Amino acid sequence: MTVLDNPMADIDEEDDPPVGINTESLSEEALAIINGGPFYETLEEFVRGFFSPMFARQQSKIHWCRYWFLHEEAVMRLKAIWFAFEDCRRKPGVGQIEWLRHVEPQLGVLFGPDGPFGGCTHERHILPPALALAETPDGWWAMAAEQQQKIRQDEKRWK
Ligand SMILES: [Zn+2]
Repeated sequence: MTVLDNPMADIDEEDDPPVGINTESLSEEALAIINGGPFYETLEEFVRGFFSPMFARQQSKIHWCRYWFLHEEAVMRLKAIWFAFEDCRRKPGVGQIEWLRHVEPQLGVLFGPDGPFGGCTHERHILPPALALAETPDGWWAMAAEQQQKIRQDEKRWK
């Protein structure tokens, strides 16, 4: 399978649910069976078979990592893109543009200098450190809003 197979156009009448079946009460799995299932079975297939060739870019212009599967944020975003792809490809006419609206903000984050691949180059993989977290004051989440506000304003405490 290649990107040239154009899975976004892989909608035909056989994909429509059989007439007379109330699909509202069916589970996602049952709907997937009725609708012919996903075009790509796994995230890996989607990334290799569609995402990578479709969004080919000059390596010097974007941030990407060949070890993309090690970046948890990237995996989450790529899964969201894949799930949206599987949903949108079943919407004749508006499916492609709707999918692109979902994808474009994600591409900006994925390929951007502040995204999950920001520290990686074509030759080098570096996982970014987790965000720094200070200790939360004891009982913070149970405090009344006014009490939290008093503590927030105590600037000396946070230096
Ligand atoms: Zn990396």
